Amino acid sequence: MRFHIITIFPEIFDSYLKESILGRAIKEKKIQIKFYNPIDFCEPKRRVDDRPYGGGPGMVLRPELFLKAFSKIKLPRGTLSKRVKIILFSPSGKKFETNYAKKLVKQKYTDIVLISGRYEGIDARVQKILKAEEISIGDYVLTGGELPAMVLIDSISRQIPGVLGKYESLEEERVSSSEVYTRPEV
Ligand code: SAM
Repeated sequence: MRFHIITIFPEIFDSYLKESILGRAIKEKKIQIKFYNPIDFCEPKRRVDDRPYGGGPGMVLRPELFLKAFSKIKLPRGTLSKRVKIILFSPSGKKFETNYAKKLVKQKYTDIVLISGRYEGIDARVQKILKAEEISIGDYVLTGGELPAMVLIDSISRQIPGVLGKYESLEEERVSSSEVYTRPEV
């Protein structure tokens, strides 16, 4: 499965994706992660964000830069395009759950595009033009969509056969407890 992340802060992902199970999954090519930074498409001396139309606090991320970043993603076309999921993070989106992750793997999605916002959010035209599904990871507001992207990558990847080793196998598929111990007994 390929994850395509559109973010203005790609470095945030570095250490998390390098370590442990996800690091191994990337090395073994069970998952691929690619980044697209809207700032790379910003004109000289212009900002990636702008004041909200109609006023209000906070800055809004400019839509054309996110759409340009999206246009650089190589996605399958034709019937295979049904295997592409476009997700835009928002605290008011549909609540993410394990079942959603399981479904994406079962239905053999090949490419997941994850669009992370910052500040007051991304100009709403991006969601409308790309027909992206708005997803929330919980009832709280974060400063950005990078943590939500990592949560989805982690949760979806561990559903992909072969990503978890036998020691880390899926809790959902076996008897497991939140209270665990190792030796010695005392
Ligand atoms: N004004 C926006 C609203 O009320 O929807 C909140 C913007 S938030 C400060 C900045 C970005 O963080 C959002 O665009 C989104 O990408 C991300 N974000 C914040 N909380 C989130 C959550 N609970 N789930 C998913 N994404 C979240």
